[in-house]
Amino acid sequence: MSLQNPVFIPGPTNIPDAIRKACDMPTLDHRSAAFARLFRPAVDGVRRILKMAEGEVILLPSTGTGGWEAAISNTLSPGDTVLAARFGMFSQRWIDLCQRHGLTVQVIEAPWGEGAPLAAIEAALRADGGRTIRAVLATHNETATGVKSDIAGLRRALDAADHPALLFVDGVSSIASMPFEMSGWGVDIAIAGSQKGFMLPAGLAILGVSPKALAAMDTAMLPRAFFDFRDMLRSTAAGGYPYTPAAGLIAGLARSVEMLEDEGLAQVYARHARIAGGVRQAVAAWGMRPCAVTPDLYSDTVTAVVVPEGCNGTDLVKLAADTYGMAFGVGLGEVAGKVFRIGHLGMLTEPMMLSGLATAEMCMADLGWPVRLGSGVAAAQAFYRKGPQAAKAAA
Ligand SMILES: *Cc1c(COP(=O)(O)O)cnc(C)c1O
Repeated sequence: MSLQNPVFIPGPTNIPDAIRKACDMPTLDHRSAAFARLFRPAVDGVRRILKMAEGEVILLPSTGTGGWEAAISNTLSPGDTVLAARFGMFSQRWIDLCQRHGLTVQVIEAPWGEGAPLAAIEAALRADGGRTIRAVLATHNETATGVKSDIAGLRRALDAADHPALLFVDGVSSIASMPFEMSGWGVDIAIAGSQKGFMLPAGLAILGVSPKALAAMDTAMLPRAFFDFRDMLRSTAAGGYPYTPAAGLIAGLARSVEMLEDEGLAQVYARHARIAGGVRQAVAAWGMRPCAVTPDLYSDTVTAVVVPEGCNGTDLVKLAADTYGMAFGVGLGEVAGKVFRIGHLGMLTEPMMLSGLATAEMCMADLGWPVRLGSGVAAAQAFYRKGPQAAKAAA
């Protein structure tokens, strides 16, 4: 029966029935007009979700990690320098991927729990007199620590330094759940995955690519074949695909966009903020704190909860799975054991979230942690009571 429980991991997220049904379709000839009819709404929908005024949408049969690889291999050459801040497991993995591709990564270290350090990034850009930095990489929402970074601020830093570097943003755990402005923020490549805010099974890397990034394809020398944007764009312009597409996922993506837009993007973002607000009330009532060090960094899609001295977050995650059939996220890398993570993105409502908080509390009690049963749930209930308007006033 544990499959009846929602998951509270920060991806893959719960899949709404409507999306599961949309993915479940008979075999389709991808060289037919029927595929083009399926494909168009998905691409156009992503363009609206990313708030793209120009550029191209690329849908690859892959995951977010493949999106990272596609972004760099289509725009950069071996030996090129990229600038990236490291403040969590996902920013670290993207850095590692760049290094394995033979790029020179200029890494700015920031403590885990903090976001992209804008002043240090601006200083590094200003110091780059020879303009060797080709791209700045940013993890919009660091899923390991529950920290969001200020991408508009990053664009201002690039502009203030008058630096021509491309801006690549990993929005895998933010896009479709938190405000994102591809064109407004001057993002050159935005990367999302199907299994987080889009509420689909894993299997698609979803990218928005600016005209400036498209132009960089002409000089980029990193090897690429399966992920080559040029093949994809040539095929999709003719209504096709360079190889066999994941047609079911693409159909599901169109349905996902429809669901997000039926609710209204502003309402989707507000719902995520509200649910996250209740989670943070619960965390405070437990006498704990988020890993994100200041409120401006709090993520609306995932909270990494710092556990009390002498407690191990991984024990809670294991107990929740074994005893209650409920999934939370473990701490990764530097914060392994020191935190457990509550994912609160995608198809989620306040009552669903209360079930997750109640289960986390039972686990804490079972483990003998110093937490009173019901304390966090009550704090979240007080926050969620009377619906969206009340939560807005309390926030
Ligand atoms: C989940 C996630 C990824 C990795 O995506 P996969 O789909 O697992 O390859 C990358 N970045 C962030 C911020 C994520 O949350």
